[in-house]
Amino acid sequence: MSYLIELECSKCGKRFEADRVQTVCDRCGKPLLARYDLEAVGSVLDRDSFWGREATMWRYREILPVRDERNIISLGEGYTPMIRAARLGEKIGLGDLWVKDESQIPTGTFKARGLSAAVSKAKEFGIKRLAIPSAGNAAGALAAYAARAGMEVYVFMPEDAPTVSKVECWIAGAHVYLVKGLISDAGRIVSAGEEEKGWFNVSTLREPYRLEGKKTMGLEVAEQFDWTLPDVIIYPTGGGTGLIGMWKAFEELEELGWIEGPRPRMVSVQPSGCAPIVKAFKEGAEESEVWEGASTIASGLRVPKALGDFLILRAIRESGGTAVAVSDEEILEAVRLMAKEEGIFPCPEGAATLAGLRHLLEEGSVDKDDRVILFNTGSGLKYTELFTLRLPVLDPKGEIDYGKL
Ligand SMILES: *Cc1c(COP(=O)(O)O)cnc(C)c1O
Ligand SMILES: [Zn+2]
Repeated sequence: MSYLIELECSKCGKRFEADRVQTVCDRCGKPLLARYDLEAVGSVLDRDSFWGREATMWRYREILPVRDERNIISLGEGYTPMIRAARLGEKIGLGDLWVKDESQIPTGTFKARGLSAAVSKAKEFGIKRLAIPSAGNAAGALAAYAARAGMEVYVFMPEDAPTVSKVECWIAGAHVYLVKGLISDAGRIVSAGEEEKGWFNVSTLREPYRLEGKKTMGLEVAEQFDWTLPDVIIYPTGGGTGLIGMWKAFEELEELGWIEGPRPRMVSVQPSGCAPIVKAFKEGAEESEVWEGASTIASGLRVPKALGDFLILRAIRESGGTAVAVSDEEILEAVRLMAKEEGIFPCPEGAATLAGLRHLLEEGSVDKDDRVILFNTGSGLKYTELFTLRLPVLDPKGEIDYGKL
């Protein structure tokens, strides 16, 4: 099963025991990263070992943290399609464009990966009560997985989070609280209640294993391209867990000797109404500053300050990538374009990657021959309130003028 050995602080390198409940580093407050015995993994597995395994992220169980497979709480998450986007590519002038489509995942967004891992690990530790601050999608995923595990859940999300997220939490039996403010305000409420309520805080990167779940996106990219990597990965960045996770996945795959050659250029896309990573990247800063007055329709990207900002920035720079901001108007236009050209109805966060790609093509940081992957991190079906339609209504009892349809 798992070859997890220990956790290591991402900043100061201090090591922590993996078989005890851990949060962040007790010395510097930064996130902990799971470390595996990759030499042992390499001696029992090779790239062909994955043939015939289950089509979920748990196909990579040796490099995931759960020790006893009876603790795995799964709804079939992961191993999502890698979709060739030829029409869209032609439209914007790119020959080798792909969409990693996370819209087809339980609870409708890739948050399911992280929370399947975190809830499974919580079950392994015997934890019974969980709490999460969320822009909406993480809460929805936690509510679903915790329901399946028989755990109690408290979720805290901004008052103006998408309706579907509120409903999906409530329907799964979570205690749902709306917060006048942002995810950061919700985060403070969860931290402050830890002692009195005794809940385990599942905030991303405070809980070490959501990252491991999201890491599987990087493993899938490699496997789906027959153990090669694309030139560019464009990722809509909020807390950055997916980007940090994929970068970690590539490091582990290299160490296993399963991939070689240059890693992809990692590109962070953020909305111009909340772009702390883009700003820090352009300024050459190692960490981001709190973004005041964060506002965007891409609610999953409304994160004023990410705990793992230095890891995001490090990965972007090491990869030779970049960071780009896009407006809400560009995002909405991109939602429509992806749906119209490819039949994929992306969430606004996912569509932001397409809007970002258009900037990169214009400024020349992506070449027309590059193999590029857009991460559509969730389904547009969770965000239909962004669209107001005025559709014609027909009266079947009256005459229909077909010439006018
Ligand atoms: C949370 C979220 C993101 C941002 O993910 P991070 O890995 O935290 O940066 C992007 N898209 C959607 C749909 C989300 O819910
Ligand atoms: Zn530390």
